[in-house]
Amino acid sequence: MPGFELFGDLERKEVNDVLGNGVLMRYGFDGMRNGHWKAKELEKELENQLQVKHAQLVSSGTAAVSVALASAGIGSGDEVIMPTFTFVASFEAIMILGAIPVLVDIDDTLTLDPEKVKEAITEKTKAIMPVHMCGSMADLDALKDICSANNLILIEDSSQATGATYKGKPLGSIGDLGCLSLDFVKIITAGEGGAVLTNNEKFYRHADHYSDHGHDHVGNDRGAESHPFLGYNFRISELHAAVGLAQLRRLEEFVAIQKKNYSIIRDALSQIPEVTFRRVPEGGIESYSFLSFFLPDIDTTRKVINAFKTNGVDVCWHYYDNSWHYIREWGHLKNIKSLYPISQEVKEGLDYLQTKTFEQSDHFIGRNISCLIKMSWTEDEVIQRAEKMSAIIKENT
Ligand SMILES: *Cc1c(COP(=O)(O)O)cnc(C)c1O
Repeated sequence: MPGFELFGDLERKEVNDVLGNGVLMRYGFDGMRNGHWKAKELEKELENQLQVKHAQLVSSGTAAVSVALASAGIGSGDEVIMPTFTFVASFEAIMILGAIPVLVDIDDTLTLDPEKVKEAITEKTKAIMPVHMCGSMADLDALKDICSANNLILIEDSSQATGATYKGKPLGSIGDLGCLSLDFVKIITAGEGGAVLTNNEKFYRHADHYSDHGHDHVGNDRGAESHPFLGYNFRISELHAAVGLAQLRRLEEFVAIQKKNYSIIRDALSQIPEVTFRRVPEGGIESYSFLSFFLPDIDTTRKVINAFKTNGVDVCWHYYDNSWHYIREWGHLKNIKSLYPISQEVKEGLDYLQTKTFEQSDHFIGRNISCLIKMSWTEDEVIQRAEKMSAIIKENT
């Protein structure tokens, strides 16, 4: 997945355009920039490739989630439903607004189980945020129906699934808002960065202003702009946008390389009766950034992942024992270890984390191994890797 694997002359050329005039900021300085507007160009490219009316670049994927929620008016005391299997960023992005993350079980798609989502809705629920983990997606039609029936906002965190589609539409373009990350390990990297995607004019305007101190961006005198509401600084720099622009133009090429490598490994593992694969919702096409599969039980899965490690099969994870992506090991969040006081309402809202168990999520994550698909592998390396993985799994099942 990481776009950095294929960093090269195309990326350098875009960065050099910016270095040539020294305007590292995305707004203003029109006379000095020799016509280079990398952030604006990248936003246009995102709109074209991801088929949305509006893209707003920000400083990170975490910022994208916070800005998306804020743009939809979600804040203090509001509940946002999200999955137990995610990246801590999605949780943090809700917390920073004083809103309450409500964790809900995943199913064999490794994303939100729509039935469990229904059970979690309360009077305080404002949004449902599926996180399209490891290159595939949640059942978006089912979640959309739940949102319509309950008057909720649908926000997609598609940070790990740029390039995947659902019923012909790019992920991130389907909900009321979509968020993506351009950090160093994502399929399209800018070094650091993120984007909010939306077809909603008002949400876009909010995101544009909110991510830049509330500036309305009217006219070309930054000092004279008005500020219709409070904002903060979540801006991306021109240097980062330049890298992202070169990378995004290569999205199709990147997905094709991943698909080729993914298919070789998947075909090999398909021969093993004990191996099953994550379910992709009907109408979905993965970005092939990861290959995720299930083994019969937790013990076998632990044995296999350890054997992978000792035999040099890298970039595979058993998230059950991992502290970044799964609720089980999130001690600092369960116990609300915060540097500063957290509101009583949020504390009470998170009380459930002390006692709630997620057996259904454990059932899937406990038996899941997800392997990153790299783009820099040669065909021989992929074939050897596939053979090695198969042999290890057979030995341990
Ligand atoms: C990477 C990631 C983010 C956050 O992105 P940053 O750009 O690193 O802040 C959010 N959600 C998910 C699922 C991610 O994988």
